[in-house]
Amino acid sequence: MRVAILPGCIGCGLCVNICPHVFQFGPEETAQIAQSPHPQDEDPVRDAASQCPVGVIKVEE
Ligand code: SF4
Repeated sequence: MRVAILPGCIGCGLCVNICPHVFQFGPEETAQIAQSPHPQDEDPVRDAASQCPVGVIKVEE
């Protein structure tokens, strides 16, 4: 799995709460990728992508 955050994050914190291994806040108070998903992160990453209120989390399987 590969994951990216496109421009437009509003900093709601949802993805950081769901999967802090992969998503962290950067200096601009927007989410960024901390590390590539490990196998155990894949379900939470999919959940974050489906729930992001602005739809900027892109997942490639
Ligand atoms: S869920 Fe979406 S809007 Fe919220 S912090 Fe993560 S990338 Fe940004």
